[in-house]
Amino acid sequence: MNNLLTRQVGLQDAYVPADYLATGVKEIIRFDRKVLEDRFQLDGLSGLSNEFLGFATDGIEGGGFLYTNRDSISLGLVLGMKSMREKMKPNDRKIYDILTHFKQHPTVKDMIRGGEVVEYSGHAVSTGDMRVMPKEVYADGVLIAGEAANLLMNSGKAIQGMDYALHSGVLAAEAVIDAKKKGDFSAASLKQYREALEESFVMKDMRNFQKAVHFLHSEQLFGMVPNLVCDFGRQFFTIENKPTPKTSKMLSNAVKRHSSYTELLKLGFKGARSL
Ligand SMILES: Cc1cc2nc3c(=O)[nH]c(=O)nc-3n(C[C@H](O)[C@H](O)[C@H](O)COP(=O)(O)OP(=O)(O)OC[C@H]3O[C@@H](n4cnc5c(N)ncnc54)[C@H](O)[C@@H]3O)c2cc1C
Repeated sequence: MNNLLTRQVGLQDAYVPADYLATGVKEIIRFDRKVLEDRFQLDGLSGLSNEFLGFATDGIEGGGFLYTNRDSISLGLVLGMKSMREKMKPNDRKIYDILTHFKQHPTVKDMIRGGEVVEYSGHAVSTGDMRVMPKEVYADGVLIAGEAANLLMNSGKAIQGMDYALHSGVLAAEAVIDAKKKGDFSAASLKQYREALEESFVMKDMRNFQKAVHFLHSEQLFGMVPNLVCDFGRQFFTIENKPTPKTSKMLSNAVKRHSSYTELLKLGFKGARSL
């Protein structure tokens, strides 16, 4: 997300709309390795990764994550800037208040019990919307790779950016080697980097999943759907001293409370076309 250079060389606009950006916040929480292995059933080099929707973000678009490291866990949130702007008023809760809220969920609270927070960090991150990519990834004497070129995507299963950063870096390095052989670092010579990038999985993914990026950043996906699923789950797993309703009745109760079958059908159709 560091666009100082891209702005300086005229490849990025001075103003990048926050609508297509998110803020990631992360705590590193240290544990004794033995505690970590027992708590998360880890062995040797194995690890665990969890993603969270719904409660985690307290009504803001985005999600939560928790993954284990060798002797710590990383716990954090990725929150859409547009949604934060709309839903968090000045002097209202701050982003770390939402992280604190997330940490109070019984599941998370138990996972982090006894750990020591040793690091807190925040970072602006692209949602993967190509509208915030620089106008070009090359200019006279300049190549833009990785996150500086907004080569990053949140298509639902994960935030993906490290592989794109590595691969675009390799392609940029190859273009530099060729330019050095020719003794020509002009934009015309460095253009081969753009061509290689377009041919690679990086731009193919960015283009193929644009609809998915737009679909996944809709309000219904981070609000209505998790609430509906949790409502249904709560009814389904609750046992009371009274006749248990049929599962279909529980489902329609949840659907009516949070949405409608028509809205769900439309959403499903949109999802099927975009994913
Ligand atoms: C919360 C969050 C979760 C993520 N999760 C995942 C994930 O699960 N999987 C995944 O693949 N990707 C994930 N990503 C994305 C991934 O971290 C990035 O796509 C990747 O790190 C980009 O690599 P990069 O080398 O382009 O940039 P960076 O990793 O940001 O490296 C740039 C480096 O340049 C340094 N720097 C900046 N300015 C200067 C300067 N002027 N002089 C010298 N040095 C400078 C910075 O300090 C930094 O070390 C996540 C990102 C966030 C924010």
